[in-house]
Amino acid sequence: MIGGGQAGLAAGYYLRRAKVDFVILDAQDSAGGAWQHAWDSLRLFSPAQYSSLPGRMMPIPPDGGYPSATEVVTYLTDYERRYDLPVLRPVTVNAVRRGDGRLLVETGHGTWQAKNVISATGTWWRPYVPHYPGIRDFRGEQLHTAGYRGPEPFHGRRVLIVGGGNSAAQILAELSRVAQTTWATLRPPRLLPDEIDGRALFDLATRRHRAAQAGEKTQGIADLGDIVAVPPVREARDRGVLKAEPMFSRITPDGVAWDDGSTEAYDTIVWCTGFRPALAHLSPLRLRGPGGVIPTDGTRALAEPRLHLLGYGDWTGPASATLIGAARTARQTAAEIVAQL
Ligand code: FAD
Repeated sequence: MIGGGQAGLAAGYYLRRAKVDFVILDAQDSAGGAWQHAWDSLRLFSPAQYSSLPGRMMPIPPDGGYPSATEVVTYLTDYERRYDLPVLRPVTVNAVRRGDGRLLVETGHGTWQAKNVISATGTWWRPYVPHYPGIRDFRGEQLHTAGYRGPEPFHGRRVLIVGGGNSAAQILAELSRVAQTTWATLRPPRLLPDEIDGRALFDLATRRHRAAQAGEKTQGIADLGDIVAVPPVREARDRGVLKAEPMFSRITPDGVAWDDGSTEAYDTIVWCTGFRPALAHLSPLRLRGPGGVIPTDGTRALAEPRLHLLGYGDWTGPASATLIGAARTARQTAAEIVAQL
């Protein structure tokens, strides 16, 4: 297994239960995967009851609400220990190649030979920033969600927040308390009603996946990209700061310009524009298809049946880049590997 975040641990749980001989190689120094690097105030958009790995419930936070990133790290650390999962860290996998009947997993600590490999390396390590004309000439500061830790450095600054999802809304909510903020989104952002929490998004992702498998289309009130009204976002909405501008068309040395000729100056642009799957270690297998993803049947790579991809996004299972989605998908992946062995 490559990657010891939530997806890797969920698969580890099922493999352990099936008494499969396996090891998890993880590049981090400590447990918790990407959650260790999230900004301090991040709140999950999924309630604790919808954020658990198999076998052990995510504890409900003292305030009864949405867990923080720190609480997820504590949960994953405990999970790994409780199920005695064999995680080796820090071990970075540099490449996976085809060997004689096995896959060769190359690391700075030697090469492993495996009958099956599960890649569960997540997306946090490949932040995505769209290209806009002038982006290199901007004299201010630019950062991505992945580099944002908290509002302190932005006191009194003019900050442009780009992106229409949960990250942008949560970061805007707290930056708007200390900075002069503008929010730019491709489409008008969709803020879910207060009574709809993250669980509606998971249910929808599952329905969509099933419908897609049956060749049908779905319509729903919510989407995984919709914004869940966690308490800080609700509070920002009530303060009137959750108002989005259309996307600008180019970046100037001092700020941005819109199609109608208007311009605005900014000290900082925060790109809350998502992530791409971290798949560089699989390049030697030459599996990538259109859109940079690897074609799969479930989680199994079509062109390399010994390789499974877990986490990453809906293309590897319904909502599989979320805690509950990874847990559901991992069960199937482990069952397939056990059957093959
Ligand atoms: P990761 O947590 O990234 O773990 C992958 C592990 O693999 C890491 O430890 C990494 O170091 C390691 N690795 C990477 N490359 C290599 C390599 N070459 N060799 C060895 N190890 C490697 N989900 C929810 O369920 N609810 C939420 O409310 C929620 N909110 C989110 C908010 C934000 C801002 C973000 C970004 C995501 C959120 N998610 C949420 C989505 C999801 O739960 C996370 O993205 C999750 O961290 C993905 O887990 P993972 O195990 O797939 O990947």
